[in-house]
Amino acid sequence: MSKGNIGVTSDNIFPVIKKFLYSDHEIFLRELISNAVDATQKLKTLSSVGEVKGDLGDLRVRVSIDKNKKTLMVSDHGIGMTAEEVDKYINQIAFSGAEEFVNKYKDKTEAIIGHFGLGFYSAFMVSKKVEIFSQSYKEDAKAVHWSCEGDPEYTMEETIKAERGTDIVLHIDDEFSQYLEDATIEGLLKKYCKFLPVEIAFGKKKEWKDGKEVELDEENIINDVNPAWTRKPSELKDEDYDKFYHELYPTQMDEPLFHIHLNVDYPFNLTGILYFPKIKSNLDVHRNKIQLYCNQVYVTDEVENIVPEYLTLLHGVIDSPDIPLNVSRSYLQSDNNVKKISGYITKKVADKLAELYKADKEEFAKKWDDIKMFIQFGMLTDEKFYEKAKDFALYKNLDGKYATLEEYKAQVKEAQTDKDGNLVLLYTNDPDAHYTYIERAKAKGYDVLLMDGELDVHCMSQAEQKHEKLRFVRIDSDTIENLIRKEETAKDSYSNEQKEGLRKAFEGQLPSDADKLRYTVTCEAAAADALPVFLTQNEFMRRMKEMSAHQQGMNFYGNLPDSYNLVINTAHPLIQELVNKETSEQVEEEVEKKDGDETKKETVIKTVCKLEGEDERIKQLIDIALLASGQLKGEALAKFVNRSVELL
Ligand code: ADP
Repeated sequence: MSKGNIGVTSDNIFPVIKKFLYSDHEIFLRELISNAVDATQKLKTLSSVGEVKGDLGDLRVRVSIDKNKKTLMVSDHGIGMTAEEVDKYINQIAFSGAEEFVNKYKDKTEAIIGHFGLGFYSAFMVSKKVEIFSQSYKEDAKAVHWSCEGDPEYTMEETIKAERGTDIVLHIDDEFSQYLEDATIEGLLKKYCKFLPVEIAFGKKKEWKDGKEVELDEENIINDVNPAWTRKPSELKDEDYDKFYHELYPTQMDEPLFHIHLNVDYPFNLTGILYFPKIKSNLDVHRNKIQLYCNQVYVTDEVENIVPEYLTLLHGVIDSPDIPLNVSRSYLQSDNNVKKISGYITKKVADKLAELYKADKEEFAKKWDDIKMFIQFGMLTDEKFYEKAKDFALYKNLDGKYATLEEYKAQVKEAQTDKDGNLVLLYTNDPDAHYTYIERAKAKGYDVLLMDGELDVHCMSQAEQKHEKLRFVRIDSDTIENLIRKEETAKDSYSNEQKEGLRKAFEGQLPSDADKLRYTVTCEAAAADALPVFLTQNEFMRRMKEMSAHQQGMNFYGNLPDSYNLVINTAHPLIQELVNKETSEQVEEEVEKKDGDETKKETVIKTVCKLEGEDERIKQLIDIALLASGQLKGEALAKFVNRSVELL
């Protein structure tokens, strides 16, 4: 037996390893199983080049728990290690690797992606003692037994081991007794090892029989050694992709809408499958996430710094040995490989969507509502994606017809271009509430878009910036005559004084919740068959308010009260009747007048119009306007109903 001292420089490395990333000590299992899988793959390679002769036999990696001895064992039939190799790889290289890693990162509070690089020594995070029993594949090699109790001392001796390969035995620390529970280990294996390329067995398969769970003879294999993303796209059918989707997310019920198979080996190596999920609401967007693998070993499902944010809405897997895993998350984004990978994925996704759109526009339109949020998010945050997506991003009108912006512009160009050459696109976010406005627009031969998505307002603003002379206006933001001005606005024959009298009379009867809502009363000759009084809401102010809800630093708009225009339609007979009831009187008024440098006061005679005794009728007209835009509720609605009955 030989004794040795691992202490390369420091002997405080073990306590550091033990405490290292306290919350994530579970990665030890992944590290040990990765080593076992590597050793097995190496053996297969040696056999394929003829360096190992004969049948390789059983190559399964087995994980087992001995509750009495309080040990957890990872056992493989790979290449194994000779005493010299244990000395070299475990005592020297692995240790110095671990030391370097810990020294580099022990003060970093920010998580290192996947904590790769700690390797074999991560076993000491949860063990008071670790043993290696190994028999090398090499002829004449003697089996070796290595043991270390978590301090810089180890022992190494010759032993007898019947089978080729390595057993790593962890004597689990009392405080980590959860790693002696079957359920914990099975959970970790399912998380980290589900798609490893060598079979991993843990215990026996179980089955329910007569209300009892019984063990079968068959071993319980954790993993699928040939996951879909490692296979050639030509070998796979749509069903295979769907099946794999459910393998990846066992609790997901919906089928994915479509998939993209990623496969590059130059200038970086990357494989994977991305799925477009059905996104029903913002809530389940992040329930299932893209999983990142490194050579089929699960690393993380936090891929935020690896793919653009909008792509994190997708599901699926990315597998790449070229994503640096032992660097901090913030470093990742500036890594050149990661930038290239992210660019590649963006391009692939955009190309796939373009291809689907071209292949079958109707099918694509059917899926639009489900993928819209994702595409819009991409267009708003990634200029390169925008450039491609603008050719397949769709707009939907109230008849349920879809068109790209260019197509739609061409369709409505003739009818909806105003006298200054602006193309005005009308939209609603709530067809029921805007019913009367929509009817008026349709009567004029205009088309109305349905824009009720969470990102629609932002996308409209973006489109306006990208297209000259293009404006989107919500159908209730002004009279239809003003929204698309064809010629000079119609004039009425009333004097300014008459209109002022009318305005004052209406102002006096406005609802009193003025802190939350603000009304500006105006007179306009809309059309005789439009409502006598109606509400409009300024497009710019409303949009600023809506957009500020999503953005920081725009609180100024967010805090403003909702403001509406109450438009008195002077072209309507009812309003004309009211004007005719106005009385006018001449009043004297003092006004200041400038005479050279001096300001003089002067008395002038003014005409003032008044409308009296019509309060109830005016209240009724205002309520009709509120009702028509869905704003009359509660007590105000009850009052309106009672007043209507009385008037009848
Ligand atoms: P890494 O796996 O990153 O090289 P480790 O510390 O995990 O670092 O392992 C160090 C070395 O020890 C490995 O490269 C390998 O040569 C050897 N080794 C570890 N586990 C095994 C095993 N189960 N079978 C054969 N060799 C192993």
